[in-house]
Amino acid sequence: MTAKKFVYLFNEVQEAEKYAGSWDGVRGLLGGKGANLADMTRIGVPVPPFFTVTTEACNAFLEAGNKFPDGMWDQMMEGLKEVEKASGKKFGDPKNPLLVSCRSGAKMSMPGMMDTVLNIGLNDETARGMVELTKNDRFVYDAYRRLIGMFGSVVLEIDDEAFEEVLDSVKKAKGVTADTDLKAEDLKELVEKLKAVIKREKGFDFPQEPLEQMRLATEAVFKSWNGKRAVDYRNAAGIAHDLGTAVNIVTMVFGNLGWNSGTGVAFTRDPSTGEKVMYGDYLLNAQGEDVVAGIRNTEKIQNLTKELPQAYKEFLEITDRLELHYRDMQDVEFTIENGKLWMLQTRAGKRTAKAAVKMAVDMVNESLITREEAILRVTPDQVDTLLHPQFDEKEKEQAAKAGRQFGKGVNASPGAAVGQVYFDADTAEKRAKADKQDVIMVRPFTKPDDVHGMLAARGILTSEGGATSHAAVVARQFGVPCVVGASEIRIDQERRQMEANGIVVKEGDWISVDGTTGQVFLGNIPTISPKLEEQTDLLTLLSWADEICATPNIRQAPAGWPTKGLQVWANADYPADARRARSYGAVGIGLCRTEHMFFEQVRLPIVQRMILAETSAERTAALNELLPHQRKDFEGLFEAMDGYPVIIRLIDPPLHEFMPDEEALFEEVITMRVKGESAGLAEKENLLANIRQMHESNPMMGLRGVRLSIYMPEIVEMQVRAIFEAAANQANKGVEVKPEVMIPLTGTVKELDWIQPRLQVIAKTVMQEKGVTFEYKFGTMIEIPRACVTANEIAKVAEFFSFGTNDLTQMTFGYSRDDAERNFLVKYVEEGILPTNPFQTLDREGVGRMMDIAVKDGRQARIDLEVGICGEHGGDPASIEFCHLVGNNYVSCSPFRVPIARLAAAHSALKYRPGGVDILEDK
Ligand code: PEP
Ligand code: MG
Repeated sequence: MTAKKFVYLFNEVQEAEKYAGSWDGVRGLLGGKGANLADMTRIGVPVPPFFTVTTEACNAFLEAGNKFPDGMWDQMMEGLKEVEKASGKKFGDPKNPLLVSCRSGAKMSMPGMMDTVLNIGLNDETARGMVELTKNDRFVYDAYRRLIGMFGSVVLEIDDEAFEEVLDSVKKAKGVTADTDLKAEDLKELVEKLKAVIKREKGFDFPQEPLEQMRLATEAVFKSWNGKRAVDYRNAAGIAHDLGTAVNIVTMVFGNLGWNSGTGVAFTRDPSTGEKVMYGDYLLNAQGEDVVAGIRNTEKIQNLTKELPQAYKEFLEITDRLELHYRDMQDVEFTIENGKLWMLQTRAGKRTAKAAVKMAVDMVNESLITREEAILRVTPDQVDTLLHPQFDEKEKEQAAKAGRQFGKGVNASPGAAVGQVYFDADTAEKRAKADKQDVIMVRPFTKPDDVHGMLAARGILTSEGGATSHAAVVARQFGVPCVVGASEIRIDQERRQMEANGIVVKEGDWISVDGTTGQVFLGNIPTISPKLEEQTDLLTLLSWADEICATPNIRQAPAGWPTKGLQVWANADYPADARRARSYGAVGIGLCRTEHMFFEQVRLPIVQRMILAETSAERTAALNELLPHQRKDFEGLFEAMDGYPVIIRLIDPPLHEFMPDEEALFEEVITMRVKGESAGLAEKENLLANIRQMHESNPMMGLRGVRLSIYMPEIVEMQVRAIFEAAANQANKGVEVKPEVMIPLTGTVKELDWIQPRLQVIAKTVMQEKGVTFEYKFGTMIEIPRACVTANEIAKVAEFFSFGTNDLTQMTFGYSRDDAERNFLVKYVEEGILPTNPFQTLDREGVGRMMDIAVKDGRQARIDLEVGICGEHGGDPASIEFCHLVGNNYVSCSPFRVPIARLAAAHSALKYRPGGVDILEDK
């Protein structure tokens, strides 16, 4: 029986492919580095001869309790012979010695986590031989002392410090500070001293036998797969522990043989701007680590054309070839040995968000990649980064170094904000509007009546709350950078200051809030502000994304299902938001929360009067006052969304949210009583009694949503009249209106049976009054599990569903969304009880299953049922993918997240093309 193949030569990539079945399989077998070296060899790029010992050998070694599997060593010896042939040198031969490196290389890149040993094959004899050959004893003894140091620490596991101490003592004795100042004689002396360290620590000599060196180094690299560093890294990066590492035995080439040699690293395009220019550094007469370590000042890669023109020309040809071959920007390492160029590594280069977009678009224009590939090259997070003002990273680092980080919380809404601190909404608004100040509004947490201050602020900071707290939701909706739950900060409202770690920030002081990372800094950090309309490459990419999204939905949709592909709509309450949403590419409004308009200063007193009305006539009078305001708001929305659907949700929150705070009012009443102030006391007492009457133990499960509409239909009747009057007025002006009226929080179809026909009558009446007709829909939010499981009934009445996944998550898990994030959710995620915060990323197994049932059953009752999502998840890429999979028509998110959602929707469309498997059924 022939032994299993554990060793692949530099020219055996085809065999590896045949065995592994795919390129991904080759990477698994030979590791990323080994696979790419072999691939470069195949396309004729000069790579020093090498062989790779497979990851399977590593796994067999570890399983057998650190024993090489049968046949592996013999195969390595055969591989070595081939490498000797190809390089024209011989391992261990003093006359013409071959030196090799022993490099780790797993399937996934794990930079610096595993071991590598260079210059294997040097011993006292071969060192002398190399001096003869190179006439460069400094170079040879430098390489030798590096081998002994590396071998001692990596293979023999002697503490690094023992070697460093010796190096330092030699440098001191010679009166030099840099390693490079040591002369050949000094290095020779150093070699002996380092050998003595090994003898002292281990009781045996540094192995002079080159094969023994290779054997021990190979064992060490295998073992390093289970080293603590590597295990920790895999845990953090989510890399499987059973992949194993390959070992690459590679012929050493030297960039430090003189001024005809050199070494460098380069990117084939500028990794920070994306420009198509070679970007890199090199050093003549140097080794790789000298470039990285920054011991000597490196030269710009373009200068190489003057110093070694022939090698540079070849380098440009090769890097062009590599880009063409891998169809991506490459990050390469090279060495020139006596004028001969060798490529030591190539891989896709890391890049900034800006560069990622530019390169993707450029490469399509160069016919290097397809539009689909370009879309997949950019992540939704990168788009996010490009749209928010950012802190200048260098300045931020400096601020951190100078101890100016004040606190850290949840990164609730991305972007950078700098401003003066104010602790209440009224002052924040006043300072921002009247005094034109840049304001950061700081509160323990926010409530709906803080919104005017939040909107006027550049940024928001709270010490309590989580990613779906009021502050977070509003901030994201309006694109205001926001950090919430910065719990080490203590806010003292009375003294108008906050304190953390002994530092006090007073009202009016400057702070900088980084909503992308959750950090808060003292003082003013400069920002950089991007604009979508100026980012032409991003606009191009997003237009391609939209084309992809317009392809049919993934599911093998039952006949008649709407299969137009996932669209992106926006949540917008005001015309200005709708205009922004449209300019960001939204093709509909998925949620207008009408009650937000009730909070405006002139309206709130009318709303309160309406709530407190004792007779129907009083209530109607107040509502009649509100109607023109609402109509005007809606007219603006329809105009901004000319031609696109606009979903307007009828009033949802419990009425007490519109009333003054009970506790504050109580205090006022007591104070007035104690002071004997009678003017206005009776009204305040009456108000307090009313508010107390409205009190509910669980308001989120109380009188709100459709229940409120049934309990007090006058409000929604006014709203529907306002919607249809606005639509009719705009239609009469030639605007194409598509109103969709959304009833929140339905739990049973009977609720819709009760309210919807009454509202439909109003719609028809208004159209008759105004002498115009247009398309419209009545539908409901799906936010209660009961609605999901009775969707077939509900869809007989509702013409559309919109998943309110904030409430649906709350009700499915039974977690209060206002409390869970600040109490137990963090621990749940840390302990692995939940994979992520379900208020941020949709819980597919539970909430998602509810949605799947609702869509299927709903469409059984109404084949063309329009289905969307308007909860916070509508802007989260992983949740968008799920919405695509269950067959949503659209996702709706805050205007600022629309471009991110467009890209995420395209990613999902590409990942699950039509004809693919039905993922949900497969699970
Ligand atoms: C929801 O519940 O997901 C939703 C959009 O409604 P709200 O957040 O206003 O309750
Ligand atoms: Mg809701």
